[in-house]
Amino acid sequence: MLKNSYVVWEGSSLIDGSPIVIILTGFVNHTLNRKTGRLLQSWILQKNVVPTEAAKRGLDRGICGDCPMKLSRLGSCYVNLAVTNNIYRKYESGAYPYFSKNEIEVLKRYRYPIRIGSYGDPTAVPFDVWEPIILASGKHTGYTHQWFRNDCDLRWQKYLMASVQSLAQARLAQNKGWRTFRIMAPNAPLSDNEILCRHTEDDMIRCEICMLCDGASSKPNIADRVHGLNWKISNFVKYSESLSN
Ligand code: SF4
Repeated sequence: MLKNSYVVWEGSSLIDGSPIVIILTGFVNHTLNRKTGRLLQSWILQKNVVPTEAAKRGLDRGICGDCPMKLSRLGSCYVNLAVTNNIYRKYESGAYPYFSKNEIEVLKRYRYPIRIGSYGDPTAVPFDVWEPIILASGKHTGYTHQWFRNDCDLRWQKYLMASVQSLAQARLAQNKGWRTFRIMAPNAPLSDNEILCRHTEDDMIRCEICMLCDGASSKPNIADRVHGLNWKISNFVKYSESLSN
């Protein structure tokens, strides 16, 4: 019988070699995430540390790399770590079965779209682990902060957006062949080759309908206003101002 969640892979992070795990959720019960709508969610977690602890103590390098948004740096990451903690606790208790060819067949049949990296950077995990899942699911969204690393697997360009925090970073990533997803301060303007996230434009549009954030193509780059708790927004605005000074 189909379960709601599965452990897909456990292994060493490609970023720093630490033990990490991917968990897929949402096969039976849809996510409550109002922005994404019904996408399977994928959680890349440090294997041996509770997510909040990892984030607070900077022990999340294996899954987040040196992402400037994480809690131990800017603290503007929008992910609700209470959710990741719940998933981690269930994983730790052995509640999740392991993903198998049967679930790949389910994906091929029903073509559930997937969000690659609801938390954690997809590129921490070997490309060849992800690709069969991405191909079976048919549609996806995904982002990476690791696009600037010389050892980032460039095959990811066809599936992921480069996450950037400034126009200069966006230009750099685009010149390297990435489409970009730029987080910007609330009143910042769009550049000529960007459109605003469609959900921010109209909250009736969810990722499951839009699916624009799906990697390199002739589609426009995306920008979105920083969102979340006020202190996270404020941290990001200060960071943006420091970049432009
Ligand atoms: S542009 Fe579309 S796919 Fe990308 S985050 Fe916004 S709603 Fe989701």
